[in-house]
Amino acid sequence: MSTPTSVPTMESHSPHAPSHRVAKFEAVRAQEVPGAADAARQAQTAWWASGASTRANALSDLAVLLRERRSDVQQLIVEEVGKPSDEAKGEVSRAVSICNYYAQRAYAPSGDTFPSSMPGRLFTERRPRGVAGIITPWNFPVAIPLWKAVPALAVGNAVLLKPSPEATATARWLAETASSVLPADLLQVLPGEATTGSALVAVSDVVSFTGSEQVGRSVVTAAAVRGIPVQAEMGGQNAAIVLEDADVEAAARQIAPAAMAFAGQKCTATRRVIVVGGQARRREVRDALVSAVSAMRVGDPSIDGVSVGPLISEQARDRALTFVDRAISAGAQVVVGGRALPQPGWYFEPTLIEDLPPDHELACEELFGPVAAIFEAGDVDEAVDLAEGTRYGLVTSVHGRDAAALLDVACRLSTGMIKVNAPTTGVDFYAPFGGEGDSSYGPREQGEVGPEFYTSVHTVTFAPHA
Ligand code: NAD
Repeated sequence: MSTPTSVPTMESHSPHAPSHRVAKFEAVRAQEVPGAADAARQAQTAWWASGASTRANALSDLAVLLRERRSDVQQLIVEEVGKPSDEAKGEVSRAVSICNYYAQRAYAPSGDTFPSSMPGRLFTERRPRGVAGIITPWNFPVAIPLWKAVPALAVGNAVLLKPSPEATATARWLAETASSVLPADLLQVLPGEATTGSALVAVSDVVSFTGSEQVGRSVVTAAAVRGIPVQAEMGGQNAAIVLEDADVEAAARQIAPAAMAFAGQKCTATRRVIVVGGQARRREVRDALVSAVSAMRVGDPSIDGVSVGPLISEQARDRALTFVDRAISAGAQVVVGGRALPQPGWYFEPTLIEDLPPDHELACEELFGPVAAIFEAGDVDEAVDLAEGTRYGLVTSVHGRDAAALLDVACRLSTGMIKVNAPTTGVDFYAPFGGEGDSSYGPREQGEVGPEFYTSVHTVTFAPHA
């Protein structure tokens, strides 16, 4: 694996201790990206020809290396993006499983046979697309690059990865680790800003993006203009619906971390809590949530037991402040939290809000922070309407006891993922992942559908010589 030479320098800083520079690195300039793609293309030809066992073994070796070196990368994740250490451990362990899972995918059938309408055979064959361009955010700096790159590699592609500038040290660690088990140039990490990402889209054969909606739209448009396949996983405005028969304490124990852990910096975080029933029921749920949120430990993410660390940047922290201030001006009440913490680092208190107008920006747009709003719905119909009332459609949770009522609500929700008596956060990498509406574009990723995206289907009619 190689990192092409470059000139502009970039830095990443700890969000917990912003004066601490985690990494200084040279960005890859846009004009260097085509050269990286040429090298990747050459490496891909040999990788595809090397056969399923070679690919499966190399990816299994990557899993072993990741496991052996996990404590190094866990610490780096905590330091560079402020993820609480328990979650960083979970992310790396999931990354190991992803490598093991997709390593075996190299052996999966790559086509079907059909009855032929003439003497001979009719069959399909899936082939790698070539060079997969992967653009990733900072919040899952190991799991997201790997849940895209490893399925692509397993079915015979090369990968160019443009990581988030905020998570470049982690991406470079990944690149270095992979370089000991993968052929040179097969997986290249190209650190840089937007121009590097755009250049990547311009040279790839298939593009997979995860990040904000605004950037995702531009990536999708650029890929569509080139006529190449593209998928984009973007933001969410996820709701948790608490039905009238739900155990309030149990629901609060799931919803509080789903909203606030890792300072709410997950696309699947709960942003809205919709309580079915009257005012008294809303107050009951609110009080349980306040207790559960207040019990969460905020602070240095490297300390065991801390579940809410800093926001990624000063700009993100200030955006949280601005959104909450504007919500208050619009008549909302802060139930708990609502302030930046007066200490170094980009900390914002876990915040619950009520009396928010449902069309307020805080209820409609994604604030990537530890803020959730509580709403009241008179009945289930109103709760479903509220939950569905945004342009996003990533995930919704429903909490209650009556199986028929839960099933009814689950079947009426249109989000890509629906969780019953489970938090909106948390992903099973072996099941399809993705959303509807403005949350996603293109096919799902992860699970069995993951590798399909990185292949094209060819139909072969094979008749004997006349
Ligand atoms: P971002 O959109 O700012 O950046 C994502 C990546 O795109 C980065 O690598 C960035 O450098 C690159 N980029 C920026 N401009 C580009 C351009 N014009 N062309 C090509 N690439 C460009 O996102 P972020 O702040 O890193 O991550 C947070 C966002 O990611 C949130 O909106 C969150 O909801 C979303 N996210 C979604 C999922 C999901 O699966 N749905 C998962 C995690 C994060």
